[in-house]
Amino acid sequence: MTRWENSRRSPEHGTQHPDPHTCLSSLPEPIIALTAALSRLPGIGPRSAERLALHLVQNEAGAVRALADAILAARERISLCRVCGALTERQPCALCDDPRRDASLVCVVERPTDIFSIEKSGAFHGRFHVLGGKISPLNGVGPEDLRIAALESRLGSEPVQEIILALGTDVEGDATGHYLAKRLAPRGVKVSRLAHGLPAGSGLEFADELTLSRAMEGRTGL
Ligand SMILES: [Zn+2]
Repeated sequence: MTRWENSRRSPEHGTQHPDPHTCLSSLPEPIIALTAALSRLPGIGPRSAERLALHLVQNEAGAVRALADAILAARERISLCRVCGALTERQPCALCDDPRRDASLVCVVERPTDIFSIEKSGAFHGRFHVLGGKISPLNGVGPEDLRIAALESRLGSEPVQEIILALGTDVEGDATGHYLAKRLAPRGVKVSRLAHGLPAGSGLEFADELTLSRAMEGRTGL
């Protein structure tokens, strides 16, 4: 049991009320502010944010400063590659700058972090291009909001022969893929997309209907 869990049960803190807001309001303002800031991070709910904030304010000052410095340094040193849009410390990024990578293949992804997923698979040795989102009329995202013009300009300056769309398999990912295929068709470049398959190592009973129907459409000969 942590110190905080102990203190929550202690009557002197008056924290036995089940409403988390009541617990928060009894905390000093800087802790409330830190909790609010942490809870805006992805995957951090209000309870986790509160626990982290309370841990930090009780931690050694040097360790907290080192964490704050690491956050600032990472944020200041990392930017988007001006060619492909990957997260990088230098321009252009190591992926764009690596002569061993196949410049005739460009894999188009939605987010910079998608590159890490594909790199982890070890199945692709070409270049990347990050769109920075997907076309979504409902969220007010149009083609002009994405890095599509930057992709087109790469077609003029790099020996690209095939563009592989590795976008999400939701409606917006599909719409973005179709839009790109249509827009890039006159450029004489081959446009393909990742096959929609079944998850490896599991039976058909674990696949949803959409995945199954797409796997059937994209069947390959043996
Ligand atoms: Zn790059």
